Amino acid sequence: MAKKNTPDLEHCIFCGRSQDEVDLLIVTENAAICSDCARSAYTYAKDALDMPDDNIKTNGKIVGDAKLYKPHEITDFLDQYVIGQEEAKKVLAVAVYNHYKRINLKKKDAIFEKSNIMLVGPTGTGKTLLARTIAKMLNVPFAIVDATVLTEAGYVGEDVESILTRLLQDADYDVSKAEKGIVFIDEIDKIARKSDNPSITRDVSGEGVQQALLKILEGSIVNVPPQGGRKHPEQRMIAVNTENILFICGGAFEGIERIISRRLNTQVVGFGAQKEREKIDKNNLIQYIAPQDLRSYGLIPEIIGRLPVVVHLNPLDREALLAILTKPKNALVKQYQEMFALDDIKLNIKPDVLDFIVDTSIDYKLGARGLRSICEAIMLDAMFEAPTSQRKSLTINLDYAKKKIEKFSGKLSGQQMTTLPLEGE
Ligand code: ADP
Repeated sequence: MAKKNTPDLEHCIFCGRSQDEVDLLIVTENAAICSDCARSAYTYAKDALDMPDDNIKTNGKIVGDAKLYKPHEITDFLDQYVIGQEEAKKVLAVAVYNHYKRINLKKKDAIFEKSNIMLVGPTGTGKTLLARTIAKMLNVPFAIVDATVLTEAGYVGEDVESILTRLLQDADYDVSKAEKGIVFIDEIDKIARKSDNPSITRDVSGEGVQQALLKILEGSIVNVPPQGGRKHPEQRMIAVNTENILFICGGAFEGIERIISRRLNTQVVGFGAQKEREKIDKNNLIQYIAPQDLRSYGLIPEIIGRLPVVVHLNPLDREALLAILTKPKNALVKQYQEMFALDDIKLNIKPDVLDFIVDTSIDYKLGARGLRSICEAIMLDAMFEAPTSQRKSLTINLDYAKKKIEKFSGKLSGQQMTTLPLEGE
């Protein structure tokens, strides 16, 4: 007979599950606990003791929500969801790693400063996707805002503080969590100063908004209306410290190639200039983007100074679009297959259909964003019929796909396909 007091070190003392049933079983001399119960106990203790921070440091390891991922781990994760854009992934991974390392240091006198990031590249090349995927990996609150809706206080539109309202909402109003979140500000190029002359009549949607944004980017305590909307004197405000919030800005900066090209031409002068010029890839000038180009485009120097990491995204070529359809973990084709599998139907899409989808998207200049709309147009009837049919498999061939697209573009009666609904986020 086993001794009564022999501790069971093979099962979690709380839930009774064994090593095989859990991610991790932490075994001590007297008891074992699984990672799930350890996490619950941590959350419980944190609430019960009203501990101010998310992370408890034990022997230098971080326990809690915010795990510090190494740059390689970050790019590996991004590779599962984002096709290409290798340089952007690398730069982002380093910036994000340094950012959270800096937060975890928690030294008041940390000598390295926050590095917010500027992503420049054509629309639909993965800027939002990169930011969103990083936030998902880090498990931190994340908010996307469109810079075009922001205006200076007192004008019609949203105050810049509404950016932080969204972050707070995503953090379930847990201020300390929100203060370590990520904000993606899209279409930052749209608040560029419209004219080179700064003294021109007030530029409501341009420089004024940049000034207001600066306050938030700089790292300060901002009073945020919890429900958004306009601030009014009676409203209760939540103070949010933006010092550790990572801001990622994105913009297409249409036409910036001209500015880059002008700069490159004037820089490359003198002996050997011809050779240097020949080295420049004129088809993809965006790769040479530098902060001074953003300034010429109409961003104020203070904003540029707060976005020290500038990285470009490449336009997506045919091969990349094809890969987007099938390769990412949540690729469109995989999503449709899963959807049909739920009705016990095996979906097979012929390779020439995939080529056709990509070509259609290129023809109509829809890029990656168009892929979903085109797939939807092809799959709609099948998705309507399948649940009531008795079939066990479905093959989409080229003829079928072409017919569905013809019908669809016919419906638009001469309108541009660009009026198709874009893929929802
Ligand atoms: P942007 O922010 O650059 O305008 P998004 O990141 O919103 O573009 O991209 C729109 C959609 O296109 C994404 O949701 C994704 O489905 C697809 N997409 C764009 N670029 C990529 C990429 N590099 N890899 C995988 N999917 C992509």
